[in-house]
Amino acid sequence: MPVTSPSRRLDLPIVLRELRVLRTTEVTPRMRRITVGGEQLRAFRSGDLDVTAFRTEAADDYVKVFLAEEGESEPVLPEQHDGHLHWPRKPAPVARAYTVRRFDADLGELDLDFVVHGHGVAGNWARDAKPGDVLHLAGPKASTIPPVGAEWWLLAGDETALPAVGRYVETHEDSAALHAVVLVDGPAEEQSELPGVTWVHRRPGVSDATLLADAVRAAAPRSGDGWMWVAGEAAIVRELRSVAKELGIPKHQLDASGYWRAPVVGALARVRALRDQAVESLETRRR
Ligand SMILES: Cc1cc2nc3c(=O)[nH]c(=O)nc-3n(C[C@H](O)[C@H](O)[C@H](O)COP(=O)(O)OP(=O)(O)OC[C@H]3O[C@@H](n4cnc5c(N)ncnc54)[C@H](O)[C@@H]3O)c2cc1C
Repeated sequence: MPVTSPSRRLDLPIVLRELRVLRTTEVTPRMRRITVGGEQLRAFRSGDLDVTAFRTEAADDYVKVFLAEEGESEPVLPEQHDGHLHWPRKPAPVARAYTVRRFDADLGELDLDFVVHGHGVAGNWARDAKPGDVLHLAGPKASTIPPVGAEWWLLAGDETALPAVGRYVETHEDSAALHAVVLVDGPAEEQSELPGVTWVHRRPGVSDATLLADAVRAAAPRSGDGWMWVAGEAAIVRELRSVAKELGIPKHQLDASGYWRAPVVGALARVRALRDQAVESLETRRR
C-alpha cells in the first residue's frame, strides 16, 4: 500500500502563556518530567487580545520555553500580538524547544520531559524546578501530521526524541507497524512502560551516530512503503539521513530534525565554527 497522502503542516495560533509547575517526576535518572498548569492553558485575555486555549495535534509538537539568562532572575519575554509574537532583540529572549509529552485539557495540565544534562539554562532550570515555579511558554505554532497509508513507521533518535517517541507509541492508531529505536546512556534510562521500543546503549569508543545507525539498519523493514521520523543530536540526525537514503526512503517520507548540537573540541571545533559562521553570513545576506 503506497503512502496516499504526505505529511502535512497544520498552523496553530501562537500564544504566550504564564503557567506554574504543579509537580515534578523523575522518569529516569537523566529525564525529569515537569508538569505545568494554570488558567492560561484555557482561552484567556492577553492585554487587549482574546487568545485561544492550548492545543496540540501531533506527537512531536513542541513549545518554546522562556528562561532567565544565567545571573538574571526574570526571563525576557516576547510580546503577544494578534496571531504572532514580537521578539525583542536587545536583550533577546532565551528560548528553548521542548516537546509536549502529554496534554490533558480536562485536568488542565501539560507534561514536558527535560533531559537533565548538567549544563544549559533549560537543563539546569529543569533540575531545580519545584511546585509553584513560574514557566512561560509559547506554542505549538504548528503540527506536522504524519502521512497516511504507510505500511510502517520507523522512529529513531536519542533521549531528546523520547518525549515525541513516547507520544507516538502511546497514541498510534494508524494500521502501520511502528518501530522505534532510541539511544540512551544505559538500562536505567530505558522507559520500560513504552512498549516496542528497541533501546540502544552508549558505548565508550563508538560514536552515538554509528551505534544508532547500526541499530536502525537492523530494525528497518526491508519492504513496503515506510515513513521515517528522526530527531536528536545533529551528527546523529545527519547519519540517519544517510541510513534513510540507503533504505530507499524518499525525502518526502522522511521527517528529520536536529534537536541539539554537541560541542566539538580543538581544531575540528574551530573549522566547524568558521564554516558555521560562513554559512550564517551567507544566509544573512540572502535574507
Ligand atoms: C523541536 C525540538 C524539540 C525538543 N524537545 C526536547 C524534549 O522534549 N526534551 C529535551 O530534553 N530536549 C528537547 N529538545 C532539545 C533541547 O531543546 C536542547 O537540548 C536544548 O539545547 C537544551 O537547552 P539548554 O539550555 O539545557 O542547553 P544549551 O544552552 O542549549 O546548551 C548548553 C550545553 O549543553 C549541551 N546540551 C544541550 N542539550 C543537551 C542534551 N540533551 N544532552 C547533552 N548535552 C546537551 C550543548 O551541547 C551545550 O554544550 C528539543 C529540541 C527541538 C528543536
